[in-house]
Amino acid sequence: MAGRDLTFGCACGKLRGVVRGVSPRNGARVDCYCKDCQAFARLLGADHILDENGGTAIYQTLPARLELTEGVKNLACLRLTPKGTYRWYANCCNTPLANTGGPKLRFVGTLLAGYKPGEMAQVMGPPTAVVNVSAEAAEAGVKARGMAALTAKILWRHFKAGFSAQTRRTPFFDATGHPVVTPELAPRR
Ligand SMILES: [Zn+2]
Ligand SMILES: [Zn+2]
Repeated sequence: MAGRDLTFGCACGKLRGVVRGVSPRNGARVDCYCKDCQAFARLLGADHILDENGGTAIYQTLPARLELTEGVKNLACLRLTPKGTYRWYANCCNTPLANTGGPKLRFVGTLLAGYKPGEMAQVMGPPTAVVNVSAEAAEAGVKARGMAALTAKILWRHFKAGFSAQTRRTPFFDATGHPVVTPELAPRR
């Protein structure tokens, strides 16, 4: 279960971090075509992270595996709706970084845009799931797969992590469960 430690960072390099123990077993590669992932990228002016059919490449794992090592003051959070997914980005250069649920769910989807290209695909493995495929993407030949297995894997990781302080650690929420920065609410679209 060792995996490899992969560094990631924003485009301008001010914010940096590391995800420990990256492997196909310790996480899941997923491509998401939902409108909210697209809206997040577009609101930040980071459309370039989307693939030609509007997909976002994500590696899902436990937040405890992720550490922000530099430039934490540039971390910002955006929510598309008051109760929506917490979408984290670097506000120095508007690089989308990660998605999380609330503080109790041991889940983070890290956006591959922040990683160095190259060894990443080899370390994370190929996408095991393609989800929320839009009509447009389907027309372009994108096929949905693996949603059930993906959900099962998120829950499996969550419960397997148990309730130890070590796995509860997350760079996105403080000990009282509040986000480390106040999320901005996106303008209504
Ligand atoms: Zn930056
Ligand atoms: Zn999505």
